[in-house]
Amino acid sequence: MESIIKFINSINGNYIIIFLIAIFYSLERLLGTPFKFDRRLNHFLNNFILMIAFYLANLAFAVLQVGIITWSSANQMGLFYWIEIPLWLKVIFGVMCLDFTSYWFHRLAHTLPLFWSVHRVHHSDTTMDSSTFFRGHPLEVLIFGTSSILACILFGIDLPILGVYFVVVLPFQVAQHANIQLPDWTDKVFGKVFIMPNMHKVHHDQNQYYTDSNFADIFVFWDKLFGTYKYSSVKSRLYGLKEFDNTKKQTFWYLIISPFIKIKRNVGDKP
Ligand SMILES: [Zn+2]
Ligand SMILES: [Zn+2]
Repeated sequence: MESIIKFINSINGNYIIIFLIAIFYSLERLLGTPFKFDRRLNHFLNNFILMIAFYLANLAFAVLQVGIITWSSANQMGLFYWIEIPLWLKVIFGVMCLDFTSYWFHRLAHTLPLFWSVHRVHHSDTTMDSSTFFRGHPLEVLIFGTSSILACILFGIDLPILGVYFVVVLPFQVAQHANIQLPDWTDKVFGKVFIMPNMHKVHHDQNQYYTDSNFADIFVFWDKLFGTYKYSSVKSRLYGLKEFDNTKKQTFWYLIISPFIKIKRNVGDKP
């Protein structure tokens, strides 16, 4: 098990991201897509520039993250240091605990106005494809980076297990935004355990009733357990946020300064 964890941690994260973009961009070209784009290249470039900013912020925060988690592991802090369980179970529980903490931080990002002003950049995309995953404000790293640190300290997760979590969660996150329509049966079968693309697309609906749902990245049971699971037909969906539904509000600069602008949230009607 240790050699598997070592191998997973030895994979360069940048290659994983490039591989995922290549796979899902090709699938979006080859398969029939539910969302029709007017200017797809523009959309991609806009999200790509945001991804660079987000990536640089992540690199800077990673220094702090690695420092704190190395310290907490050296001092054997957290649940998994106090109970005796095999390593493979520690990895599974570790990934689940990180997903659980991320669920709550994501939910907070929709509840606290300060967090929402940053997180809404991810929701501002009025079109939807795999590049939407990379649309995030650089400041968002403070929210989800803190979530990872807290999970590691509370549950006793070390850096190698955190590395496994990132390798597991990335394909989920890119697939969840991809502009491809999976058959309904996949939701019925795999959706019993995992957050499927159709479920995350509900989270990107313009109507706040749906936006404030399906917060988890990997496992569906957090949303079901804490009453935030919602499902609706993908075909009739309007993506994004009404308050960003204007080409001038989709530019890189507007999105970067948007957390510092007072923007009233458009809640929409309860369906
Ligand atoms: Zn969200
Ligand atoms: Zn999303």
